[in-house]
Amino acid sequence: SEPLLDVTGLAKHYPVREGLILAKQVGTVRAVDGVSFSVKRGETLALVGESGCGKSTTARLVLRLIEPSAGTIRFEGADVTRITGAAQRAMRRRMQIVFQDPYASLNPRLTVADTIAEPMAVHGIGDAASRRKRVEELLSLVGLRSFHAQRYPHEFSGGQRQRIGIARALSVQPDLVVCDEPVSALDVSIQAQVVNLLKDLQRRFGLAYLFIAHDLAVVKHVADRVAVMYLGQIVEIGNKADLFANPRHPYTRALLAAIPHPDPQRRGQVKPLGGDVPSPMNPPPGCRFHTRCPFAQDRCRSEAPALRPMADGHEAACHFAETLPPAGLDFAGGLS
Ligand code: SF4
Ligand code: MG
Repeated sequence: SEPLLDVTGLAKHYPVREGLILAKQVGTVRAVDGVSFSVKRGETLALVGESGCGKSTTARLVLRLIEPSAGTIRFEGADVTRITGAAQRAMRRRMQIVFQDPYASLNPRLTVADTIAEPMAVHGIGDAASRRKRVEELLSLVGLRSFHAQRYPHEFSGGQRQRIGIARALSVQPDLVVCDEPVSALDVSIQAQVVNLLKDLQRRFGLAYLFIAHDLAVVKHVADRVAVMYLGQIVEIGNKADLFANPRHPYTRALLAAIPHPDPQRRGQVKPLGGDVPSPMNPPPGCRFHTRCPFAQDRCRSEAPALRPMADGHEAACHFAETLPPAGLDFAGGLS
């Protein structure tokens, strides 16, 4: 069946200008540079990569908070970059976002009840009395109590504030929720609770999630499929099980090797990925990962690898994906 969200060739380029009246274009930042993926109803696609890889920009493009330079975004088959007016408002209701920072994203002057009810008011759903009733239901759904409705965000812990943000997103019954690093700002002990809540709500309401994360540890517990991004492009995408069991791209392998071992005795053997992420302005020619890749050959410096299907059906963009040493050995001694 048709995917809920279908993104093809998505790009966001920013001109970089210099000079007294910024008349001279000195470069182009390729924040997102030809990204394609789809999200099915009820599933979670995780977009993973280091900061600056373009994952948040991709999320903002999908939500139409910024305009793409190229590409199409279809929601149930309709091109979201072309619709306007009432149809656009209706689509906006169906795509909601949960932000990374529950401290910064809630208005401190609104009560919890008004915070949660605000999207319903914006979209003209129900009257004041029915919204109050809906707020009660939502508080209970996210594990908060009805007396919390008249309190203010600063009276809550980080995890509780994220529950408020989730209730707010769900108030208008979306089909797709973009979760922009929803647990990155929370204590590790709270992260699992919020992840479990998101999974529970997904099952109950058939929600699809586009789940943004900077490492693979959280994704392991939440994703059905995973897309790994590097410098504005997807370098590997597939079912979580295939991608975790048989990672093909050296960058995915490095991200996997960076997940802390559950046994503290065995931590510290694996070094995180060395080197800095190059600038998305004038990215390296050929394979964009070649400046950090321990397997780079001459060909990698001139020829950009395309995403291609691997034996198990997931896709990777590496010239040598089939002939790399077995995963798990390559980064065990650290990458520098
Ligand atoms: Fe490394 Fe070359 Fe593969 Fe790029 S194409 S990931 S540089 S081996
Ligand atoms: Mg971000």
